[in-house]
Parts: sequence; structure tokens; C-alpha cells
Amino acid sequence: MSATYDFDAAIRRIPDFPKPGVLFYDITSLIGNAEAFGAVIDTMKHLYQGRRIDAIAAVEARGFLFATPLAYLLNLPTILIRKKGKLPGATVERSFSLEYGEDTIQIHRGDIPIGGNVLIVDDLIATGGTIRAAVDLLRESGACANELFSVIGLPFLGFRELLSDCSIETLVCYE
Ligand code: 5GP
Repeated sequence: MSATYDFDAAIRRIPDFPKPGVLFYDITSLIGNAEAFGAVIDTMKHLYQGRRIDAIAAVEARGFLFATPLAYLLNLPTILIRKKGKLPGATVERSFSLEYGEDTIQIHRGDIPIGGNVLIVDDLIATGGTIRAAVDLLRESGACANELFSVIGLPFLGFRELLSDCSIETLVCYE
């Protein structure tokens, strides 16, 4: 049963990536395991079917992998949240702080459902900074963005505090 699936066993750890001292949670082992990937998507479907959601926003790049199968199953549109310079049409954007420096995300302006409920999907929430910027960008562009999904959560990095105004679902949390 996907509700009790051992997702943890399907996630590979890569020590010292992308730099020494960082333990990277690698979801290529999860998407490379058809049973595990299917269990993730089935669990997402059970979490969100019947809910008032108008669109699914996918965070570049690994969020795309989980958002689009769910959007297909729920018959919803997918909105891409991309790094600056990747989207060809007219965009809205928001910058946010990283450990070193700054990053900017963009969304096609015309894809945002004004007044609609958007579920944001990513593979992993660490500090929450990326998904916080996505929530704020969608909200300031006129959508309701309160629901967040991530396969993996690292709550010790503080995302629950940063995203305390959102409802967050994760399948695996590491302390
Ligand atoms: P945050 O903004 O929450 O600090 O970082 C989350 C973003 O960084 C996500 O888009 C996620 O894909 C990426 N990320 C950070 N650490 C990891 C990791 O250990 N594994 C994976 N798969 N992604 C990570």
C-alpha cells in the first residue's frame, strides 16, 4: 500500500554533494524505481483528489517530475516555476536569498489563475527559501497559494517556521 510505503529506502544519500559536509538526498533512485515512484504519485493523488485546487505549480527542476503526473491524474493545469531567463513569454518574478548570494524565479504571467488555489510541488524543502519565494510570487500575482507538497522535508533547517502560514505535506522527513 502506498500509504505505508517505505519511501526512505528508495532515496539515495550522497555525502559531500554539492560540497563537503552536505548530505544530498538523491531522488534519481526514487524515480528510477517504478514501484516507489508510483507509490509517490498514488499517495499524492490520495492526498489531493477532491480538494479545491485549480492548478499545480512545479518548482524547477525536480519538482516538475512529481507535479506533472499528479496534474494529469487530477486533470489540472501545470504551472512552471523556473529560474530567471528560462521562460519565453511575459513573466512575473521574485528574488530570494541563498546561503551565498541571491536567486530569481519566474512564472509566465498568463498561467497564474487569479483567485484560484494553487498547490506548489517540489522534491525537497530544506530552508524553505525557494518555496517561500514561490508562495509570495503567486500571492502577489493574485493567486491563493497555501498548499505545499514535497517528497522530502528537512525540518531542522527551519522550513516549518518560514512557511507557518501554509499547509505542508511531506512523505519523508529527516532530522
Ligand atoms: P530550500 O530553498 O528549501 O533551502 O532548498 C530547496 C531546493 O533545493 C529544492 O528546489 C530542492 O530541489 C533543492 N535541494 C536542496 N537540497 C537538496 C537535496 O539534498 N536533495 C534534493 N533532491 N534537492 C535538494
